[in-house]
Amino acid sequence: MGTRQITSSVHMICIPFTIPHPEGVQITRHVNVFIIDNGRQVTFIDTGVSGSEQILYGYLRSIGRSPASIALVVHTHAHPDHIGATRAIHEDTGCYVAIHPHERAWLEDVGLQARERPVPGFGMLVGGSVPVDRVVQEGDRISLGSHLHLRVLDTPGHSKGSVSLYLEEEGVLFTGDLIPRPDDLLIYENPLETIRSLEKIQSLPDLRILLSSWDEPYMDRRVYEALKKGAGYIHALHRLVWDLKHKHPSADTTVLGRLVLDACGLSSVPVNPLIANTIAGHLLIETLPEFNPDLG
Ligand SMILES: [Zn+2]
Repeated sequence: MGTRQITSSVHMICIPFTIPHPEGVQITRHVNVFIIDNGRQVTFIDTGVSGSEQILYGYLRSIGRSPASIALVVHTHAHPDHIGATRAIHEDTGCYVAIHPHERAWLEDVGLQARERPVPGFGMLVGGSVPVDRVVQEGDRISLGSHLHLRVLDTPGHSKGSVSLYLEEEGVLFTGDLIPRPDDLLIYENPLETIRSLEKIQSLPDLRILLSSWDEPYMDRRVYEALKKGAGYIHALHRLVWDLKHKHPSADTTVLGRLVLDACGLSSVPVNPLIANTIAGHLLIETLPEFNPDLG
């Protein structure tokens, strides 16, 4: 997993962090932040957790840019590890801040997010609330100040205002947390919307490189394999959740979450509200349509 230059304009910076758990266990994570450098100004895709700005500024200096060159931060969504350093970066540089309208309130009032989605360690992960200058959604085309443009695609599922951002000139797509990670229980609000969003990405013309917030870059054919694999994880979890629900009809989402984690060999992972929420999403729909591989 590593920080590096991906194309002539795009750089990936891997930010490690830990989440404290009430039982004293530290969960180690990382999140990728992306920099798009047009030669004069830089755009950030997400900002990582609180304190990440120092890693990001250090990287900018290493490529001959200063923090003052940051013109814009566009967020894939408002979860803590994507907005954590936005306040500090905005205060240091006065950059513009953009996010989807459905995510705006959680960035402008992080206390609201903490109440509505109380993830462990929230206060340590997020540096504070930030005013939003621009909302971005499906169909928008953001000029990055020179020859580069980002096209915005609504790709809900992980959260209702999650977007993917397509750097048209280089065929690079930033997908945030849309593609589920298999080394942990899958976290999304709506499995059906996630499948639909994966299909939508698959039909993008000239897509060469897919950049996720947690994974290594995918290139060329591997992009489509990653999308199909992601959909496969969702279907496997769907079957497991409904099998367990049929065996334990009175179990609530927390109890089912425990049974699911145990069945996945994740007995040491505590059930938290995010996992219970994923289970609830699967229980809303009994039959999940197949991922359509013909759209690629
Ligand atoms: Zn997220």
